[in-house]
Amino acid sequence: MDGMPTRYDVDRDALGALLGDEPRYRGDQVWDGLYKQLAEPGGLTTLPKALRRRLAEVLPPALAPVASSTSADGDTVKWLFALDGGARVETVLMHYPDRTTVCVSTQAGCAMACGFCATGQAGFERQLSTGEIVEQVVLAARQARSDDRRLGNVVFMGMGEPLANYDRVWPAVERLHGALGLSARHLTLSTVGIVPGIRRLAGEELPVNLAVSLHAANDTLRDDLVPINKRYPLDQLMDACADYLRAKGRRLSFEWALIDGTNDRRRDAAELADLARSLPLAAHVNLIPLNPTPGWPTRGTPSEGVQRFQRWLTDAGVNATVRRNRGTEIDAACGQLAAAHPIAPAAPAGPVPVELRPR
Ligand code: SAH
Repeated sequence: MDGMPTRYDVDRDALGALLGDEPRYRGDQVWDGLYKQLAEPGGLTTLPKALRRRLAEVLPPALAPVASSTSADGDTVKWLFALDGGARVETVLMHYPDRTTVCVSTQAGCAMACGFCATGQAGFERQLSTGEIVEQVVLAARQARSDDRRLGNVVFMGMGEPLANYDRVWPAVERLHGALGLSARHLTLSTVGIVPGIRRLAGEELPVNLAVSLHAANDTLRDDLVPINKRYPLDQLMDACADYLRAKGRRLSFEWALIDGTNDRRRDAAELADLARSLPLAAHVNLIPLNPTPGWPTRGTPSEGVQRFQRWLTDAGVNATVRRNRGTEIDAACGQLAAAHPIAPAAPAGPVPVELRPR
């Protein structure tokens, strides 16, 4: 851990140690309060007042909400959080007709330097701790509850590269599963293609979903769009994906941001279909029309082009869905998270308001 542990950094044993002489059931009550009731530790009224006061002190929050914005239809909420030391990250909650999903950040900034991604354009700031990741989910789950919805899905598709922060991200995954009770099938890690990370993931017990941000299916174009490809080229990446599939027996998905005239031609679809079908279980393709970002001139593929590209893939026997564009008008869509433009002054240090801005 980098700084002082926060309320969702501590595991059950560490919590017990923090509570010192308190009987074990007190620890259970606090754990339950944090993960089942999604409560503020200082507000657990079943506990004696002195203990509550102590908890508020030894279990500080990690995230200070700076601002939140809600899409016009109310189905997408984005938060800007300030972290200890001043870094900022964004978290996005999405209500769909059949499910509620939160998209969490794993790093402040990102070192992967994909030119079409706002986070990549900003550069790397620091790793997030396990507690900083878990707390994003808990705050989103609280908001979902007040919207009469249940948060069931977590996608690690916010700011940062999850597999470049493996040692903190994986314990967060385990906590979401074990303490928050989310099913592994509803947790999705998205990676730019960090091969050693994928191999490590294949050795874990929990069979989480893996999404690979491909965007190009030949090394020349991918070197250009996704610079880490020079370190982990496509043949190595596909080998690791195949091993992951064999280990988990679960289909993985390729993310493909459609960029006008760049990776949306018939030839691109053919190469992509070949790669998807080269895996032991053909990959599912998620098409995302490129969202605009300040530092990238090329536009997203217009919608007829998106439909055409999807058809080319299905005709080649590859399953492809177009990801509905959520939150573009509040800059909450894929690749738009930047946290660079403060909407309001940073929240002062101190307790976080329990209720975030009502919708
Ligand atoms: N670093 C991880 C997690 C980020 S996920 C990864 O690369 O997978 C965010 C997803 O949005 C990735 O698939 C990313 O490639 C994609 N993306 C980035 N910029 C985008 C943009 N401008 N429009 C659409 N998708 C974008």
